[in-house]
This record gives sequence, structure tokens and C-alpha cells, in this order.
Amino acid sequence: MSDSEFSARSHNRTVASRINCPLWCAIQHGANHGEEDWVHMSEALEVADGVPARLCMSVDPDTGAEDRPYVTIGSSEYTLDEAEELGMSLVAIARVGAASIHPSAG
Ligand SMILES: [Zn+2]
Repeated sequence: MSDSEFSARSHNRTVASRINCPLWCAIQHGANHGEEDWVHMSEALEVADGVPARLCMSVDPDTGAEDRPYVTIGSSEYTLDEAEELGMSLVAIARVGAASIHPSAG
């Protein structure tokens, strides 16, 4: 192990010990320097070609205070309610399409 690898690992431990990750967080805090160390991020859900959707939550590095979780889709941010609404709208248009293939007998 090189010295730089060792210092990266120590840094990771230091940052991780100051951050309480929610269960859905997939970030290795300390792996990146900068603002991303203070954002919890879920695994990406690819909703379109090259457009990931993620659950995020920022943490104030000084106070440890956490924002409400929010959803990013590409570079846009959505509240949880907005993301839920978007998902239901997607389901709705898919169901309209499905209904036109299999019209109900009633
Ligand atoms: Zn985290």
C-alpha cells in the first residue's frame, strides 16, 4: 500500500465517522474531495439514456444538520412529492397505452 492510499483510507474513516448515512446511501464518503462528501446519494436508477435518478440528502459539514431527502433526475432536483407525482404520471401514461392494447370487455 502506498502512502497516498493510506492517507486516502484514513481520510475516508475520518469523514465517515462524522457522517451518519441513511440506509439507502451508496456513497463512499471521503473517496471524493469537495461538496459530494457532504451529500448522501443512493445508487443510480437509469430512467433514460444516460439520465440517472438518485435519492440525495445534503449534510452541513459544520453542524451535521441534514436537509430533507430530495430526488435528482439528470441535473434537475425534485422534492419527494414531485418525484412521486412524476412516477405516478409515468405509470398513468403506460396504463393508457396498455388499455388501448387490451380494451376492457365491459
Ligand atoms: Zn452517506
